[in-house]
Amino acid sequence: MRHQSINLIALLCAINVVVVSPSLTSSDGGLLSEAKGIHDWLVQVRRELHQMPELMYEEVQTGKAIRKHLDKLKIPYKYVGVSKSATPGKEAHKYHTPGRYPVAKTGIVATIGSGQPVVALRADMDALPIVEEVDVPFKSRNPGKMHACGHDGHVTMLLGAAKLLKKHEAELKGTVKLLFQPAEEGGAGGDLMVQEGVWWLWGGVHRVVLTRAQNTQDCWKMWTRHLPCMCGQASQQAVC
Ligand SMILES: [Zn+2]
Repeated sequence: MRHQSINLIALLCAINVVVVSPSLTSSDGGLLSEAKGIHDWLVQVRRELHQMPELMYEEVQTGKAIRKHLDKLKIPYKYVGVSKSATPGKEAHKYHTPGRYPVAKTGIVATIGSGQPVVALRADMDALPIVEEVDVPFKSRNPGKMHACGHDGHVTMLLGAAKLLKKHEAELKGTVKLLFQPAEEGGAGGDLMVQEGVWWLWGGVHRVVLTRAQNTQDCWKMWTRHLPCMCGQASQQAVC
């Protein structure tokens, strides 16, 4: 479990390094060089998402784009074969399904690997009601809306991690859940995912790692906390 988690953190750090600072040449390794290998794809995905900012619980096109990439990667996300009226906790075995779509109105949960333990990687999807003034070829096509908080980058990081994890799926000892969370900007989308039972599906999620780019923090560092929180009191320099 610990070994797998450290690998996941390193993987996200590697993707983060490539997304945020592709010229960075810190300590190299397998994951970092693999992440560098998909740099152009990551840029393409980020720019694609940047052009379609959508507000909380309206992430329809964003979800469609995410599902398009998941389909190409052959990563399942569809909700199959389980009654939504099943009792939380008591019938958790019924939820050993590939994934759920939609969850929390416009969210997506996808799955790589199988069995226990279950580790989740999460990215928020929504944008802000802000006019984008920077004139770039990939600027917002939705007037008055902009990915000003970087959620397009977060989703890209998660898709990048998904791409590399899928490649190494046979080596995983457990399950990785990819949580594409709607409505982080005031809509409590994470809370709604909890209410809909994302955490106890598949027998419980053992650990959740968030994607987060922040310009006040070195991009090769990962903040961690043992509580439900975006970031916290301790930082860890992951090997990547
Ligand atoms: Zn945000």
